[in-house]
Amino acid sequence: MARTKQTAGKSTGGAAPKKALAPLPQVSSPPEVTPRPQRKKRKAAEDPPVDAIVLTLPVTTAPQQPPEEANTWCAGCDDGGKSVDCDTCPRHVCAACIEFPEGLDEPNHTINFYCPRCWLFNAAKIPEWTAKDEANRQPLDDGNTAVVIKAGVGVPYRGFFRDGKPLAPLRYKVPQTLRAQWPLSDTTRLVVLSLRLDGTPLLGDAAALIAHHFAPYYQDAMFLFESLNFDLDTNVTEYDNAVDKLAGRLESYAPVKIMVVLTDHSTPDEGCLHISQGGAASADAGDVLPRLIPARLQQVVRQARTSLLVLQVCGALNTGPARQEVADFVAIAGFQHAIGFTTPRFLPAAAHTFLQDVAHHFFITGHAKKFHHILATHYELGMHTDIIMYFPTREIYRYCWTHPIHRPHGHRPPPQCPKCFTLTPFDVELHTEKQIVLKCTACQKNGIAAPRQFTFDAPPKFQRIDEKPWVGGKKAKMVQGVWYGEWLCTTRTGNGLPVYHLSS
Ligand SMILES: [Zn+2]
Ligand SMILES: [Zn+2]
Ligand SMILES: [Zn+2]
Repeated sequence: MARTKQTAGKSTGGAAPKKALAPLPQVSSPPEVTPRPQRKKRKAAEDPPVDAIVLTLPVTTAPQQPPEEANTWCAGCDDGGKSVDCDTCPRHVCAACIEFPEGLDEPNHTINFYCPRCWLFNAAKIPEWTAKDEANRQPLDDGNTAVVIKAGVGVPYRGFFRDGKPLAPLRYKVPQTLRAQWPLSDTTRLVVLSLRLDGTPLLGDAAALIAHHFAPYYQDAMFLFESLNFDLDTNVTEYDNAVDKLAGRLESYAPVKIMVVLTDHSTPDEGCLHISQGGAASADAGDVLPRLIPARLQQVVRQARTSLLVLQVCGALNTGPARQEVADFVAIAGFQHAIGFTTPRFLPAAAHTFLQDVAHHFFITGHAKKFHHILATHYELGMHTDIIMYFPTREIYRYCWTHPIHRPHGHRPPPQCPKCFTLTPFDVELHTEKQIVLKCTACQKNGIAAPRQFTFDAPPKFQRIDEKPWVGGKKAKMVQGVWYGEWLCTTRTGNGLPVYHLSS
């Protein structure tokens, strides 16, 4: 006999009676007036920025003196070691990757270094030199009957210059083992901040997961993990004080990059954010967000070069009337980007690997200009939910995974034929760029003369985000599907794809 059982839910949606937030105190609590005693900067070896213990006491990692900017890892192997800085970009390359010439430290000469990437793609910034002829490309002192040689594609790599002239071609020793070629590893000061509704555990939180991912890249307190719980119904003053203190700490840390992850529930109808655990109370997103991230913290966000807000909240927040409130808040708070999800019963853990990738590309490699490269490997998330991207211009873009059978032009077909009750019975009857028709393959077998069909139209401004041409018919039945997108709110006249700017 079949048994029934009840298990707890883990999606982020749920009802909660709406309440007004307690008003902010008239005078916001001043920053600490008594100077804190000077604390010795801790060494990373004694006090790593993030580990399983620090997750419960992150505040202790805030150094009194913010560390200098850093880019710690070799652009060739993404590892540490003795390395040389590129003169024209933030990369550096280690001695395991290229052969360092003799006499690098000679005091009477000016030595310049240009990394392999700059040699190929940034050649305009590398001095040209004269050579006897194109064939030998050796530097020539007298300059007579010489040709001018420039760095670039097809020119032997001479990364080191002495007094403006290239030294002998360099041996590049390490075979490529990373997907990215000469990745930037930007390890300038970063803060990851987790804001969680009371009762939401830190273990399993996306921000904590991402913090663990960052830890091997960021050394010597270049990375700070902060975490705040909130109950804006019964403990609002406590939260106001805690977030004010946090903002004070972050002001002195002055992060170059900041990522804020909000984990909360929202009401399924209006997308109101829960302000107390167990569905006890909710309030308008437009009121809750500026309370969670108040003006003083917004100022820290605005001063960062790269900032991202992640809303680990169920879809009503990003699909209903609350969406505009989120867009307004993102613009006011000055976040460069904010990510939300649309599915009603959003499962935060389903987005974990995606968010980890996003965080890596936004905050370490700076590669998110091509956001579709990140999405391409996350079609399983696309099956679960659309992704909403907010921009500080109040523009909103919807990324939508499509698949001729599972998500025809972004729609969700029923899980079952409503005529013959067969499970997942549909096949593609018609597949054009504007319309997909699915037909039940089981109706006739089950004695139904006119098989049930469903027609799905493409949204009018749907665009394929990898900018590849439309593929219909059998070829399109790929497992991965394709990501499309559309502007839900835009000020631009054209229909171009979103552009991501990760540096100032
Ligand atoms: Zn290396
Ligand atoms: Zn370079
Ligand atoms: Zn049927």
